[in-house]
Amino acid sequence: MASPETEAIRAAWFERAMAKKKKLPKQLAILDEDICTGCDACVAVCPVDCIDKIADPAHPGYAMGICTIDLPVCIGCKLCAQVCPWDVITMVPTDQVLMSSKFAEAFQA
Ligand code: SF4
Ligand code: SF4
Repeated sequence: MASPETEAIRAAWFERAMAKKKKLPKQLAILDEDICTGCDACVAVCPVDCIDKIADPAHPGYAMGICTIDLPVCIGCKLCAQVCPWDVITMVPTDQVLMSSKFAEAFQA
């Protein structure tokens, strides 16, 4: 059971995320960094240029050139998921993404 402080932080984040949801598409591209090969095929097709190599040198995928997606910029067009040779990218309903604490940081103000 999370502490009251943690629950308060989670509730505040969820409120902010729901407010932003009005501007978000129905689905977002979720990239599995554990299986991405860094081939760049998705980077080339993204119309809003929101896919890039991991920029954090401390991240385990940095040296391998693994890609990551800037979720608040994604417009949900699916092009990246269609071209990825390894089925690394899955289109997920925005509601589900916003409910996941894993992606909370991406939507912080
Ligand atoms: S769904 Fe479209 S906008 Fe979103 S990351 Fe993929 S190519 Fe870019
Ligand atoms: S196309 Fe797939 S394997 Fe290639 S960089 Fe993009 S997500 Fe990774």
